[in-house]
Amino acid sequence: MKKTVLITGGSKGIGAATAILFAEKGFNVAINYNNSFQSAKILANSLNSRGYSVEIFKADVSNKLETNLLVKEVVDKFGGIDILVNNAGISKIGTITQIDDIDADMIFDVNLKGVYNCCKSVAPFMIGQKFGKIINVSSMWGQVGASCEVAYSASKAGVIGLTKALAKELAPSGITVNAVAPGLIETSMNSDITVEDLNNFVEEIPLGRMGSPSEISDAIYFLSSPSADYITGQVLGVNGGYVI
Ligand code: NAP
Repeated sequence: MKKTVLITGGSKGIGAATAILFAEKGFNVAINYNNSFQSAKILANSLNSRGYSVEIFKADVSNKLETNLLVKEVVDKFGGIDILVNNAGISKIGTITQIDDIDADMIFDVNLKGVYNCCKSVAPFMIGQKFGKIINVSSMWGQVGASCEVAYSASKAGVIGLTKALAKELAPSGITVNAVAPGLIETSMNSDITVEDLNNFVEEIPLGRMGSPSEISDAIYFLSSPSADYITGQVLGVNGGYVI
């Protein structure tokens, strides 16, 4: 039987690359979106037209009622969820004195509480089926911290703590929980950064370039595959050598 993957924030960037890869590997793909209905629809249509099994589901991951409903809708549609990719995330650059409290709250609510919500909503199903793989998208800034991204870095560090704790809790149920920690990746998340700042950043990356969304989806896919069956509670850095 086909396996099913739920990808939060699958409408664009890393999430969209992940949706394409899992569809091509033969999964039922549930793409969650929040604001980007058009992008999600276009992506799903193009994958369906290639014969793949893809549906879109609206939910704000920071809202527990919505993640409960999201998981129920995906299970109703596809009969279960084998893999959860917690990819949805937001960022905002500014010093701690500049960042609005509302923006900071939103960063924690989406990036950390959103991962918690989705894990909590999906856990009963995975525990019931005694199988599951959860892959959380953290960031290298969650590992080492970024100036002018304190809330973002803290939220992503929280995702690493959550990953390690949940891995221990769910291992007896046959469920693995891992994280990827991307470096600087070419997506709309970095579209506000000036070309000059990007070039300066890239000069400090040992491999000398930004990463692509598909290089992150490859790592996510690996952690979801049988090749990673004995890996849990780990953080896989995909950052061109910037953080080692
Ligand atoms: P992106 O292109 O801006 O995509 C972000 C995705 O998150 C969108 O699909 C968006 O969906 C979704 N999202 C935002 N808020 C949401 C909410 N409340 N509920 C559901 N979905 C929500 O950024 P990206 O670079 O692909 O980022 C993907 C993940 O990688 C994020 O967790 C990010 O922190 C992480 N990351 C990125 C980089 C990088 O350099 N790009 C580096 C390290 C880590 P809608 O548009 O539909 O709302």
